[in-house]
Amino acid sequence: MGAAAGGTPQRGSPRGWRRDACAHYTRTVNDFNAPQSAPDLLASQGGKPVRDKFLPFAVPWIGEREKQLVLESLDSGWITTGPKSQELARRVAAMTGAKHAVAVNSATGALHLALEALGIGPDDEVITSTWTFVATVNVIEHVRARPVLVDVEPDTLNLDPRLVEAAVTPRTKAILTVDYGGQPCDYGAIDAIAGPRGITVVADAAHAFGAAYQGRPVGSLARITAFSFYATKNLTTGEGGAAVTDDQALAERIQLLSLHGMNRDAWKRYGDTGSWFYEVVAPGWKYNLSDVLAAIGLGQLDRFDEFQRRRVELVTRMSAGLADVPEVRTMKARPDVTHAWHLFPIALELERLTIDRARFITELRAENIGTSVHFIPIHRHPHFRDSLALRPEQFPVAEDAYRRAITLPLFPRMSDRDADDVVAAVRKVALAFRR
Ligand SMILES: *Cc1c(COP(=O)(O)O)cnc(C)c1O
Repeated sequence: MGAAAGGTPQRGSPRGWRRDACAHYTRTVNDFNAPQSAPDLLASQGGKPVRDKFLPFAVPWIGEREKQLVLESLDSGWITTGPKSQELARRVAAMTGAKHAVAVNSATGALHLALEALGIGPDDEVITSTWTFVATVNVIEHVRARPVLVDVEPDTLNLDPRLVEAAVTPRTKAILTVDYGGQPCDYGAIDAIAGPRGITVVADAAHAFGAAYQGRPVGSLARITAFSFYATKNLTTGEGGAAVTDDQALAERIQLLSLHGMNRDAWKRYGDTGSWFYEVVAPGWKYNLSDVLAAIGLGQLDRFDEFQRRRVELVTRMSAGLADVPEVRTMKARPDVTHAWHLFPIALELERLTIDRARFITELRAENIGTSVHFIPIHRHPHFRDSLALRPEQFPVAEDAYRRAITLPLFPRMSDRDADDVVAAVRKVALAFRR
């Protein structure tokens, strides 16, 4: 773990407050409510926070259109899976360049069904990234296959194709890509590994709705792609997701498994039995999306281009604002991608700071800036560490990134002022703890 800088008062003291005077003066500030005027006095030391109102790291933007469509669904009497879920699926397919889409209640469900539909099971290996949310790896275990975790590229924190290639064995059935933060993986390199060996590429594109690689939309780059419409994602239904594919048989299988394995077309085949008739042809799950939630997604889709434009504006503004703060590094989009900018992660230049990442987050919180960390690498979670016998040394890039990573606020409803506050707070904390 990173050095516990917060535990040693001297190392953790802000600039200009070091050494003997510091402990005493800090106490003075707290006890006597001393000057709040110095603009660079940290909020944690009694100074004025960069902003008065807390700015969360992500807030959904639900507009009048979403509300109207939700009411329409409620008034229609059809509140479970129905016309709105189907319309959402159709539009998601159209937007992502895939022939078929199935709307489900989460990306986790979409990924699980993707692996099921592909027939991945016991003794199979699925290569994926350690730099992801746990759902990516849990679903591999749900089908009783073996997750094979690999390290990431330093600039994108996406799967490193060379390490993927090194991890392939005769049992490798799939490569499960993760488009971190909204930046597509290097699908050219991954396809070059998967294609000749008959390995299937499945994409966890929970961050990458609307992204593209070399002009091809995410959704058209893998055999099956999963999107998330979770509350913090760049398009939301509150809870929801979708699986998209060009393969009709896979889409039908996913559809079937998403609702108990009930074959809705049975009545067609058996003609005389009427619309009440169904047959269960597999023990499916209950992953269908409610029309009430799909309605939110339809409203979001109407405004999606506007959302994405705003994300790019905010990223441009904050990246420019942080360009001359050498204590932090922002992430860049590679030239051949359209980045969905779901997240705005920074990396701390710890060598230039007297504090660690945890303390930096605490200081930003005191300045009323919310943050998150994406991600705690999978190999650090006890279950995977122990059951897969993983050691941190196997993942040097992810380990290094994890010590430095902070996700700053980014959501379309943020004002320029909010973005400037984020920059000001990062600058203030960086300056105070500059080495
Ligand atoms: C959010 C997320 C998921 C899970 O999405 P749900 O819709 O909540 O199931 C999966 N993978 C990644 C990388 C995510 O960030």
